[in-house]
Amino acid sequence: MITSQGFGKICEFSNFTPQLQTENDVDNSKLIYLPGTNCPLKTHTSLSAFTSYRVGGEAEHYVSPYDLEALQVSIEYAKENNLAITVLGAGSNLLVSDRGIPGLVIATRHLRSKNFNPATGQLTVSAGEPIPTLAWDAAALGWEGLEWAVGIPGTVGGAVVMNAGAHSSCIADMLVSAQVLSPDGTLVTLTPEELGYTYRSSQLQGGKRIVTQATFQLQPGADPVQVTARTKEHKKHRLSTQPYSYPSCGSVFRNPKPYTAGWLIEQTGLKGYQLGGAQVAQLHANFIVNRGGAKASDIFSLIRHVQNEVQERWSIWLEPEVKMLGEFQAGC
Ligand SMILES: Cc1cc2nc3c(=O)[nH]c(=O)nc-3n(C[C@H](O)[C@H](O)[C@H](O)COP(=O)(O)OP(=O)(O)OC[C@H]3O[C@@H](n4cnc5c(N)ncnc54)[C@H](O)[C@@H]3O)c2cc1C
Repeated sequence: MITSQGFGKICEFSNFTPQLQTENDVDNSKLIYLPGTNCPLKTHTSLSAFTSYRVGGEAEHYVSPYDLEALQVSIEYAKENNLAITVLGAGSNLLVSDRGIPGLVIATRHLRSKNFNPATGQLTVSAGEPIPTLAWDAAALGWEGLEWAVGIPGTVGGAVVMNAGAHSSCIADMLVSAQVLSPDGTLVTLTPEELGYTYRSSQLQGGKRIVTQATFQLQPGADPVQVTARTKEHKKHRLSTQPYSYPSCGSVFRNPKPYTAGWLIEQTGLKGYQLGGAQVAQLHANFIVNRGGAKASDIFSLIRHVQNEVQERWSIWLEPEVKMLGEFQAGC
């Protein structure tokens, strides 16, 4: 059995170095520790560093627990202080409003542990583990099944919630079970059937439950060189077809079958169209990139513009895949 850390011991507090922000700290930010833990909770924390778009205002309160206990204390703290909870993974599918997010933002990125079990071929991982690292780790062990996921820059939790997918595979195909924390503090283990998976969607979306851990079924016993080569191929393909050099959230819109959103946007003549610092990518029209200095409102206005133009030309309303957090207003 290959284990990095058992869940519940993810945060060894003796080694604990709070990852506090530097570039985005503001003067009025304040740090306290969650009651009974060494887990820092900050106020007025800019979220732009915690989203792949590199935009967004402040979290009224922000915490990134290193273990399950601190996560549970965070939820208690929110309850006691009447704070709404918003969950963040790696922030790679999010557009956070320039006005920020009221209440308590809980980032799960520091919940780390992974366990490759050769007897079952199952990989059990904490919610904060980055998906690309898992793909490389599995490949290096000669475990097949995660090659497709190498280009998805999110966490396990975000991928389970979003039913992330690529190259005709998705999380639902390989998930054995997900461990989920309910608002009342109880841990429940759910099967893919119970999560109601459909294309880039699950019943965990918009809900109050927090994914803490997931178990995936992989296929051990392959040649690590070959699995790594396939993983590299997937990465290479994505780098050549998607704009990774500017901040983005990946695909902005869901594909309205039988079309792809990218094709519809391209055929509407919107490739390269720019509003403020936000641009419809030249390389892939379903990406909106931050060309530098974009505000969340630029990206939001461009999303609306694309939706309106595509609606007018094709009578199809593109549904966003990106999750928008906080307040947005058309034209702001
Ligand atoms: C360059 C690029 C390429 C991308 N390519 C793909 C792709 O090929 N396929 C694909 O599917 N996606 C892709 N994405 C989008 C994104 O990476 C995925 O949706 C990913 O699964 C999001 O994970 P995250 O940890 O960043 O979640 P976040 O963006 O932080 O959150 C997404 C949603 O999940 C919720 N959430 C996150 N973690 C938890 C948790 N532990 N418990 C409960 N709720 C939680 C959030 O509240 C939010 O509603 C891409 C993004 C980028 C920037």
